[in-house]
Amino acid sequence: MAKATAQKKAKRAAPKRTQLVYAFGKKTDGNGTMKALLGGKGANLAEMSRIGLPVPPGFTITTEVCIDFDKNNHSFPAGLEKEVEKAIKDIERQGGKKFGDAKNPLLFSVRSGARDSMPGMMDTILNLGLNDKTVEALAAKSNNPRFAYDCYRRFIQMYGDVVMGVQPEDEHAHEPFDEVMEGLKKEVGVKEDTDLTTEHLKELISRYKALIKKKTGASFPQDVFKQLYGSVGAVFKSWNNDRAILYRRKYKIPHEWGTAVNVQAMVFGNSGDTSATGVAFTRDPATGENVIYGEYLINAQGEDVVAGVRTPHTISKLDEEMPQAYKELLEIRKKLEKHFKDMQDFEFTVEDNHFYMLQTRNGKRTGLAAIRIATEMVKQRLIDWKTAVTRIPPESISSLLVPIFDMDARKKVAVIGSGLPAGPGAASGKIVFSADDAERLSDKGERVVLCRVETSPEDLRGMLASEGILTSRGGVSSHAALVARQMGKVCVCGADGIVIDYRRKTLTAGSVTLKEFDDISIDGTTGEVFAGYVPTAPSEVNQVLAGKLKADKSYTYQIFDQVMKWADRARKLNIRTNSDTPLQATQAIALGAEGIGLCRTEHMFFDGDRITSMREMIIAQNDKDRQSALKKLLPHQRSDFAGLFKAMKGYPVTIRLLDPPLHEFLPHDDTSIRALAEKLEIPQETIVERVKALHEQNPMLGHRGCRLGITYPEITEMQARAIFEAAAQVMKLKNAPKVEPEIMVPLVGYPGELKNQVDIIHRVAAEVMEKKKVKIDYLVGTMIEVPRAALVADQIADTAEFFSFGTNDLTQTTLGMSRDDSGNFLRIYQNLEILPANPFASVDTGGVGELMRIAVEKGRKSRKKIKLGICGEHGGDPDSVKFCHEIGLNYVSCSPNRVPVARLAAAQAALGA
Ligand code: ADP
Ligand code: MG
Ligand code: MG
Repeated sequence: MAKATAQKKAKRAAPKRTQLVYAFGKKTDGNGTMKALLGGKGANLAEMSRIGLPVPPGFTITTEVCIDFDKNNHSFPAGLEKEVEKAIKDIERQGGKKFGDAKNPLLFSVRSGARDSMPGMMDTILNLGLNDKTVEALAAKSNNPRFAYDCYRRFIQMYGDVVMGVQPEDEHAHEPFDEVMEGLKKEVGVKEDTDLTTEHLKELISRYKALIKKKTGASFPQDVFKQLYGSVGAVFKSWNNDRAILYRRKYKIPHEWGTAVNVQAMVFGNSGDTSATGVAFTRDPATGENVIYGEYLINAQGEDVVAGVRTPHTISKLDEEMPQAYKELLEIRKKLEKHFKDMQDFEFTVEDNHFYMLQTRNGKRTGLAAIRIATEMVKQRLIDWKTAVTRIPPESISSLLVPIFDMDARKKVAVIGSGLPAGPGAASGKIVFSADDAERLSDKGERVVLCRVETSPEDLRGMLASEGILTSRGGVSSHAALVARQMGKVCVCGADGIVIDYRRKTLTAGSVTLKEFDDISIDGTTGEVFAGYVPTAPSEVNQVLAGKLKADKSYTYQIFDQVMKWADRARKLNIRTNSDTPLQATQAIALGAEGIGLCRTEHMFFDGDRITSMREMIIAQNDKDRQSALKKLLPHQRSDFAGLFKAMKGYPVTIRLLDPPLHEFLPHDDTSIRALAEKLEIPQETIVERVKALHEQNPMLGHRGCRLGITYPEITEMQARAIFEAAAQVMKLKNAPKVEPEIMVPLVGYPGELKNQVDIIHRVAAEVMEKKKVKIDYLVGTMIEVPRAALVADQIADTAEFFSFGTNDLTQTTLGMSRDDSGNFLRIYQNLEILPANPFASVDTGGVGELMRIAVEKGRKSRKKIKLGICGEHGGDPDSVKFCHEIGLNYVSCSPNRVPVARLAAAQAALGA
C-alpha cells in the first residue's frame, strides 16, 4: 500500500520532459502516436521516416516548448538552442550541405503543426537560410541563378510578412510586397512573374529589403540563425493570433495544446523541368474509388498547386511526364495505406526526378467515400469489420438513400437562392403554393414542389403529394423540416431571400420571379434553390429495397448492406421507427426497423373525409353528438391500425393516443369555415364560436395530451376500441402475424392521469377480447415528456409497462423553451457558446439527459423489466443514440430514413467508438 502511494507520488512529481527537439530522417526520435507532443504533421513525418519513406530530414520542436514560450514572455527555454544546433549538425552530416554555408548551403522550411490540422495558423516559411552570400552559392551549385534568386525573393517576402509583420495596413490596402512586384513588372514591361529575369529578381530583392527597412526600421536578417529563431518564434506566436483562436473556439480545440514547429531540409520542386510539387490522396475522396487521386505542377514550389496561379495537372499525367517518379508514387501509395491503414492525404515534391514525402494525414472524405473505403479496406484485410464500422460517420449513410440530381443537367440551371438543408436529396417539379394544388397536379401525374411561407398540419397531404418542400420561413426544426425528415421528403426551409406571394402566386428571388406551375428544383442536401427542371433519380439503395433493381447490379447497395450487417452484429439497442402509415412502416422495415416506436394517431385524422368527422367531433356540444362523430372515425382508425399491424409483420407497434390541442384540427379561414358549416349543416357562427372557445394562449402547455382523454374519455375509448378490434381482426387472418400493440398515453405528469386512461384501455380491451373471443397481448405505457413524469417515474411505473421518452416536449418543458420560437435566439446562444449544440437536435445531456437517467433508474426500480425507449426526433441523432445506449434504453425510434443512421450510431456506441 505504502509502496503504491509512493510510486504514484513519484510519477506525479516526475521532472518535466527534458527533450525539446525530436529528429526525423535517417535518425528518428518520435513516432506517429506522439501527436500531442509533436503535432500531427511532426508525428507523421517521424512515422514516415520510420517506415523508410523518403522524407527530407528535419526536426520537430515540441508543443511543450510552445506553451513554455507563451508563459515566459516569448522567450525560449534554456537548452533549446543547444538541442537545435545539435539536430542541425546531424542533418548537415547526412546530406553534406551546411546551414549558412557560402559554398553548399543547407536550406530549411519552417512549418507549424498542431495536434489537429488547423488552417488559420502561420503560413509555412520556405527557403530559410538564404542570404546575400548563400544565394550566390545556390545559384552556382544549381547552375540556375534565376531559380536561386527566385527562392531568395520568396523567402524575403514570407519572412517580411509573417515574421517581421510587413502586411497591408487595412483590409482595403494591397499586399505591400505584391505592390512592389507589380510596380517592377510594369516598369520592365512584363506580365507574368515567371517573365522576370535574374537581373529583375535581384532588383526586386533590393526593393523588398528597402520596403522592410522602411516599414519596420529593421533590416532583413542576414544571420541564418537569427532567421531560424525569428521564424520559430513566429510559429509559436501564431498559435495565439485571432484567426487561430477563432478556429479553436469553433472546433473546440483546447487553447492549452500549443503547436509544434517542424524545421525541415528543403527540397526543390522548382529547380527545373524534372522537378514538381503536388498533393494526392491514396483513394478518390469523393467516390472512395481505389485509385490514386491528386494533382501536381512541374517546376513549382510550396503552395503554387493550391494557389491557383497555374492550372495543375491531374496526377495520372505524371506517368507520362516523369515515369520514374510516378512509379515511386504508386509504391508509396501502397506503403502508406498498408502502414496507416486509412486513406491518406499527402503532399510531395519531386526534385530532379527524386521523390520526397512532405506530409501525410488521414484524408477527409464524403459520406459515400467513407462507406466505400471502409468496406473495401476490410476486403483487402487492411482493417477489421469493427474498425470499419467505427470509421463511418453515421450521418454519411443518409447520402446513400437520397434521390440525386443528374450532375450535368444541374450545371445548366441557375441558383436563385438558398435556405437551410432540412431534408436531404434532390427534388424537381412544378411550383405549387397550396396543398390542394399539390394533390390535384400530382394526381394527374405531375411532379410538384410545394412552396409555402411555412407549413402547418393542414399542408400534410400536399407535402405527401410533392417531390419536395420549400419554405421561406422556419428553421431546421420547423414543421416543414420535421415532417420532411419523417417522410423522407426533400426539403429546403427558411430560404429568407425568397418571397412567396400566395395572392399573386409568385415566388421571387432577387430579380428572378417564378410563377405558379413554373419549374423549380431544390437540393435539400446543400439548401440550394434552382430555377428550372433538373432530372433526378431515386437512390440505388432505395431502388433495390423497393425491388426495382437487383442487388447484384448495384455496388452502392452492396456496400450499404455490408455496413448495415456489421452494424447489426455490433449493436445492443433495438431500432424502431416513427411511422403513421403502412407505407412508411414498410419502408422502415426495409431499412431495418424492428418495430414502430411512435405512431401518431392524429396524422390519421387528416386524410380525406376524416377531417370532417374529426371536426364534427370537436364542434359537438354534447356527448351524444360527440359519440356519433366518433363512431364515424372508428372504422377509419381500425382499418389504419389493421394496415399497420399487417405491415409490421409481427414487430411491436407503439400507438400514441390523441395528443395535439384540438384547435389544430379546426378550420381558421372564412372559406373553410363556410365549407365545414355546409357539410355539417350547422350555422357558421357555431363553428366560429367553437374555434374561439378552443383558442389557447399557450397551446403547447394547454388542453392536450392525456388531458384530452381525461376530459373526453370517449376519445380514448374510441381509439382503444379501434386498436383492439384491429388487432383481433388481423390475428384472425390466415398466416396471421403476431400482433403486439403498445398503447401509449401522452403528456402524463401525475400517476393518476395514467391510471385514469389505463383503466379505460383495460376495460375496452376486456370487452373486445370477450366479444371477439381472442386474447390480445398488449402493453400500456406512457410518454415521459414533462419533468414531473421523470421525477415520479417510480410511481408511474406502477401502472406503466413501458416508458418512451418524448424528448421533443421533454426538452421544451425542461428548458422552458419553445422549439418553434427558439430560432430567434438559439443561434446567438450557440455563437456565444452558452449552449454546445441545438438541444432540439441533440439531447441536452446535462439537463434533459439527467432527467432521463432519473426516470430510467426509478422506472426500473419499481418495475424491473420495464421497456424503455425514445421517440423524440433525437432518436435519429447519432450523438443522442449514443447517449441512449449509455443510459441503457432498450430501443430508439426515429423516422424511417434515419433508421440506417441509428443502426450505425448504435453499433458505434456498442463498440465504444
Ligand atoms: P500546410 O499545413 O498549410 O499544408 P505545410 O507546412 O505543409 O503547410 O507547407 C506547405 C507546403 O510547403 C508543402 O505542401 C510543400 O509544398 C512546401 N514545403 C514545406 N516543407 C518543404 C520542404 N522541406 N521542402 C520543399 N517544400 C516544402
Ligand atoms: Mg498553408
Ligand atoms: Mg501541408
